[in-house]
Amino acid sequence: MAKTKTKAEQFEFKTEVKQLLDLVIHSLYSHKDIFLRELISNASDAIDRLRIESLTNADLLENKSDYKIKLIRDEKTQTLTLSDNGIGMSHDELSENLGTIAKSGTKAFLEQLQKDKQDVNLIGQFGVGFYSAFMVADSVSVITRKAGSNDAWKWTSTGEGQFTIEPADKVTRGSDIILHLKSDAQDYLKEWTLRDIVKKYSDFVEHPICMDVEKTEYPEGDDKDKKQTTKIVEETLNSQKAIWARPKNEIKDEEYKEFYKHISHDYTDPLQWIHYSAEGIIEFKALLYFPSKAPMDLYYPDSIKGVHLYVKRIFIMDDCKKLIPEYLRFVKGVVDSNDLPLNVSRELLQQDSQLDKIKKNLTNKILSTLKTTLEKDLPEYLKFYKEFGKVLKEGVHVDHENKDKIVELLLYPTSKTVGDELRTFQQVVDNMKEDQKEIYYLSAENIDVAKTSPLLELFRKKDIEVIFMTDPIDEWVINSIFEFKDKKLKAIDKGDIDLDDEATKETLKEKKKEHEGLLTFIQKQLDKEVKEVRFSSRLTDSASCLVADEHGMNKHMEQMFKAMGQAMPAQKKILELNPDHDLIGVLQARFSADPASSELKDYIELVYDQAILAEGSTLKDPIGFIKRVSELMVKAGR
Ligand code: ADP
Repeated sequence: MAKTKTKAEQFEFKTEVKQLLDLVIHSLYSHKDIFLRELISNASDAIDRLRIESLTNADLLENKSDYKIKLIRDEKTQTLTLSDNGIGMSHDELSENLGTIAKSGTKAFLEQLQKDKQDVNLIGQFGVGFYSAFMVADSVSVITRKAGSNDAWKWTSTGEGQFTIEPADKVTRGSDIILHLKSDAQDYLKEWTLRDIVKKYSDFVEHPICMDVEKTEYPEGDDKDKKQTTKIVEETLNSQKAIWARPKNEIKDEEYKEFYKHISHDYTDPLQWIHYSAEGIIEFKALLYFPSKAPMDLYYPDSIKGVHLYVKRIFIMDDCKKLIPEYLRFVKGVVDSNDLPLNVSRELLQQDSQLDKIKKNLTNKILSTLKTTLEKDLPEYLKFYKEFGKVLKEGVHVDHENKDKIVELLLYPTSKTVGDELRTFQQVVDNMKEDQKEIYYLSAENIDVAKTSPLLELFRKKDIEVIFMTDPIDEWVINSIFEFKDKKLKAIDKGDIDLDDEATKETLKEKKKEHEGLLTFIQKQLDKEVKEVRFSSRLTDSASCLVADEHGMNKHMEQMFKAMGQAMPAQKKILELNPDHDLIGVLQARFSADPASSELKDYIELVYDQAILAEGSTLKDPIGFIKRVSELMVKAGR
């Protein structure tokens, strides 16, 4: 069919593509080989998509279902072509898919990179995908025809800001990616180079990756007169063996790692993997990986492709949200089940109870593996926890069935840990005093604020451990935990802390009586700010501190609501005073001498300001504070 020549349309790459191309070309130098893996992955995905769509529209196959990816070398034109007979792309898909970056994680990463210097190697975690072609090619053409359509298109670019699209001729469906190799990338025309890379990165790809190679045939027997002949034959380069279906003892660590990189597009080795077969109510094989680094898109759950679903070794989908709970979204891997129908659709999967059983099994396996690592190899677990602990914590709030198991996996700094050390709830319980009924914790903005809090004074004196909760999500975790191994969790900045013996309680009562007038006076002066002024034995060194009442909101919670843009009505706190502090004596003396003295008023303000500063808050009237302190200094210095 003769096509009327139409002028090529010219397009600009989106800014983020330009940034990505710049990175790919200038920074990923040492990883050049991966372009082939990326393009083969794309070709394999395109075939998978065609196969799935053809389940409901067999015409798309155009009577040919011999799925294949072919590598074509041409020394004369110095081109390497990757040809697939997958789904192909329409005109609009071409300009959309190969002109923008759809993945939010990659976009977020690029934005971050502009702001501060991130490790550019991290880009590998999102897969540079198609654009990696420009590492080895100074110009790339894509000739593609969408299955079921008659129109073919040619996309061309040198990777410098623009690309063009023009009509093309293509008889077979699918895409040809034509790479005009750079002068320093001519190695990719060599048979053995390509063989090695395919074997290394793409051996397990389900579809055949073929290439024409020269085969030499030697004469049989001793017939020396016959000459050896060479023939060009098409050879399949990959074994196509599903790694997860092979026996564990036959798989090398290297193979596990390469497979991980293939499905995750991560450059770095995984931290750990789990390879197992489930038998019984539901049968499936699973190969799951924990990455060693948290990807940028960890907090964009929608864009995450985690565990790929296969049915009888055939790829079904890579974004099956029902396979794994959201709080385990960092897990990558494959699940292959014989118990699901091959033509399973997204809608069907929504109601499939088999899938729920698989999910349950996977969740248990992942949590129990983490527990074993925590118990047997703490340093390894800490590497995991540093990257994914926050996400795991989400599970406490949402997965009631497994809550207890998840809580056992959490780690926290405490008032007794040193440096980076972290402890489990179990360790804290094991270290408890015999008569200790509650697990104490303190929420704070960060560990330094927690460590220096006056609220800890009594606990230090009594040698009681307090857990520090410094993650915003910890507030939700706490609200879902309530207790651990029959010990209630108790915030030390809320309500009463009952740690005193009878004698101490008695003394406190007496002191209260003795200073009743003063306490009422302070209460009156601070009436607008605080709910109550009282003595407590919570403090040993400091004069004052602020606490919330039992069901009130502590400082940390208030800050969080504020950060989320939810203005909360100011909550009045309780001001607790240390009856044994010298300052109380000073206040009492001034009060007894002249309750109307302006100095007494200033002192009370200062005691209150100290409590505000100690909880890490800012003063409402810092200028007044400075003035009062300066006056005090002047008087003391006279
Ligand atoms: P990713 O594959 O991670 O989505 P890429 O940049 O590699 O990112 O590719 C962008 C998109 O271009 C793909 O999602 C796909 O829709 C399309 N694409 C790339 N290669 C092919 C191909 N060989 N056949 C059909 N579509 C393709």
